[in-house]
Amino acid sequence: MIIGIPKEIKNNENRVSLTPGGAKELIKRGHPVYVQHNAGINSGFDDEAYIAAGANILSTIEKVYEIAEMIVKVKEPIEPEYKLIKPNQVVFTYFHFASEKELTYAMIDSKAVCIAYETVEKEDRSLPLLIPMSEVAGRMAIQEGARFLERPQGGKGLLISGVPGVKPAKVLVLGGGVVGSNAAFLAAGMGADVVIADISLPRLRYLSEIMPHNVKTLYSSPHNIEEELPTTDLVIGAVLIPGAKAPHLITREMLKYLRKGSLMVDVAIDQGGCFETSHPTTHTDPQYVVDGIAHYCVANIPGAVPYTSTLALTNATFPYVVALANKGWEQACKEDKSLAKGLNIVKGKVTYPAVAETFGLKY
Ligand code: NAD
Repeated sequence: MIIGIPKEIKNNENRVSLTPGGAKELIKRGHPVYVQHNAGINSGFDDEAYIAAGANILSTIEKVYEIAEMIVKVKEPIEPEYKLIKPNQVVFTYFHFASEKELTYAMIDSKAVCIAYETVEKEDRSLPLLIPMSEVAGRMAIQEGARFLERPQGGKGLLISGVPGVKPAKVLVLGGGVVGSNAAFLAAGMGADVVIADISLPRLRYLSEIMPHNVKTLYSSPHNIEEELPTTDLVIGAVLIPGAKAPHLITREMLKYLRKGSLMVDVAIDQGGCFETSHPTTHTDPQYVVDGIAHYCVANIPGAVPYTSTLALTNATFPYVVALANKGWEQACKEDKSLAKGLNIVKGKVTYPAVAETFGLKY
C-alpha cells in the first residue's frame, strides 16, 4: 500500500505522523512511503533522514495526497486539505468530528475512509492513541508550572523543590487519571508536597499504592478542595467526564482561598476547562491573571515538545499503521475490534454512532 505523510499545516502543529524509523519498517514490508518536503523538520527529522530510510520526498502536499492510498496524519484535515482527499483513500489521524461540523460534512463528501485516532478503543475502554498525549500533557503541566512560578515569568518566585531549610511547593492535582497521575508523579519527583483528588475511590486506592510517599490522595468534593486551597501553590486541572464538558471544580469565588501569585494550570481546557475562570491560551501567550491568581490554559500542551510528542504518538499509532498497510483497512478492522472502533466515516457514510447522533445523521 502506498503511504503518504503530509506536513501538518494547522497553526503551531509541529508533530509528524511517522518517524524515519517507522518509514524504514514500512518500506521493509513492501509499502512505498512518500513524505512531503520538511514534514518532520520541526520534530527533529529532516528530509535526509527519511531518504536514508528509503522514503521518497515530494515537494508539495498536493503530490502526497495524489499518490497515496493511505494518508497518515496528526491533526484533523483543515479546509485547504479537504479537496485533496480522494474517494476510497484511507485517512488515519485525529479527527474529533463531534466538535467540527464542517469537517464532518467535508469528509462525508470526500468518500474517503476516515479512521480516527481518538476513537480507537481497547476492550477495557482505554483509548490507546489518546493516552500518550495525556502522558506528555501531565508531565508538561508540572514543567510549565515550575517555569511560570519563576519571577521572570511573572510567577511568585517559588522553587518547587524548596531547599534544605525552605519548604517545597504544595501541588494540588484535580483528577487522578492519565494526566493527573503523570503530573503528580513528576511533581513528587521534584520534591513537592502533592495532593491528588478524584471522585473514583478505586482509582484513589490504586494511586495510594503506586505513588511515592509525598503524594496524598483525597476524595474530590467542593469542601475538600476549598480546604486545600489556602496552602496550595500550584493547582493542576486534569478531570475528564467522557463526552461531557469538564465540571468547574474551582469557581471564581473560590480564588480568594488561594494565596496571591499562585498558579492554576488547566489541562482540561480542551473540554471547556475545570476552573470557572479558564479560557484557552496558546504557547505564544500562555497565561493571564484573574484576582491575583495566574492561569495557564494552553489547549495543545504537547505541541511545545514535538520531538517527544511525535515519538510518543508514533509508538502508539505505528502497529495500527502496519496492520492497515499489510491487510487493507477492511481486513485489518475485521481482525482488530479496537481499530474498527476508529472507523468514523466510510465512503460517504458516518459509521460512528456518537458522530451521527451529534449531527442528526443516519448510521
Ligand atoms: P482520564 O479519563 O484518564 O482521567 C480523568 C479523571 O478525572 C478520572 O480519574 C476521573 O475519575 C476524574 N474525575 C472526574 N470527575 C472528577 C471530579 N469532579 N473531581 C476529581 N476528579 C474527577 O483523562 P486524562 O487522559 O487524564 O485527561 C484529562 C483531561 O486532560 C481531558 O480533558 C483531556 O482532554 C485533557 N488533555 C488536555 C491536553 C492539553 O494539551 N491541554 C492534552 C491531553 C489531555
